[in-house]
Amino acid sequence: MIPATLPLMILRFLFPIALSLASFCAKAESPLVIAHRGASGYVPEHTLEAKAMAHAMGVDFLEQDIVLSKDDVPVVLHDTQIDTVTDVASQFPDRKREDGRYYALDFTLAELKQLRVTERFDSKTGKPVYPTRFPGGKGRFEIVSLEEELEFIEALNQSTGRNVGIYPEIKKPKWHRDQGHDISPLVLSILEKFGYRSKEDACFLQCFEIAEVKRIREDLGWNGRLVMLLSGGGKGKDGTDFPHLRTRAGLQEISAIVDGIGPSIGSVISGKSPGDRQITDLVKHAHAVNLVVHPYTLRADDLQKTVNSADDLMDLLFREAGVDGLFTDFPDVTVEWIDEQE
Ligand code: CA
Repeated sequence: MIPATLPLMILRFLFPIALSLASFCAKAESPLVIAHRGASGYVPEHTLEAKAMAHAMGVDFLEQDIVLSKDDVPVVLHDTQIDTVTDVASQFPDRKREDGRYYALDFTLAELKQLRVTERFDSKTGKPVYPTRFPGGKGRFEIVSLEEELEFIEALNQSTGRNVGIYPEIKKPKWHRDQGHDISPLVLSILEKFGYRSKEDACFLQCFEIAEVKRIREDLGWNGRLVMLLSGGGKGKDGTDFPHLRTRAGLQEISAIVDGIGPSIGSVISGKSPGDRQITDLVKHAHAVNLVVHPYTLRADDLQKTVNSADDLMDLLFREAGVDGLFTDFPDVTVEWIDEQE
């Protein structure tokens, strides 16, 4: 005998499951917030302080750009040159190359540690690149090695009970090789040491050079998630054919190797002003071959000419273009936008 209330009982049973499933799906679809060089809109880029601030703002991933020191230690710096974010020119005036620039690769880790990191400035004029950001020369910040940073994030994750991921970028592997240094194997062994090795681990490895991306996957045995960075311009110095990689055929080709792409925002929203902007087919074509799309970069103080505001930019990227994540110098602005939608 079936009780008359059975349908109601079933509904009562199923409803909470449906609800939690719905909220899980909503969460799973929520775009990723990737702190671009940390909370770099507020604290000098790639300092542990900038990473801690971004972590506290609730990001999903913290980005590391990686170059090598003279003694082959992977360090977290955006440029191979160090004269736009440190006081190297005053501490080591005779250590510049013929081009007048100072390179991380010419200094041991111990020497790099002596430098003071500051807000990014133009090395010729001394003027800040982003005038309203953290004042130049203030604070005491230092260059960190990749290992130090991963230790720091592991510790922060433990103390906060969160699992914020990492998003390392191998910078200029061809240039490093031309200088007699092989950066990728050194980075991969550190990722392995910290337990980043499979696609389930909270890590996306990224690079702008297609030959190196292939090598990382096919020869160096990286089994974690991999992202092909795509410049918005022509061919790279290493020969990477960006115009081709941005096409449907190019995306199809790299989908056999990588899990996603990191295009410039200009490749997702084309145009010269808010009046003539258009969403390109890039995201659609990438999604068709199962590639996630994480464009760079939201800078609230230096917005693309195609948008009216940071919110306008995020509406376009997340709602209209349907990107899966965003590199942001202002993690709080992006976290807040996403929270408001949910
Ligand atoms: Ca980067």
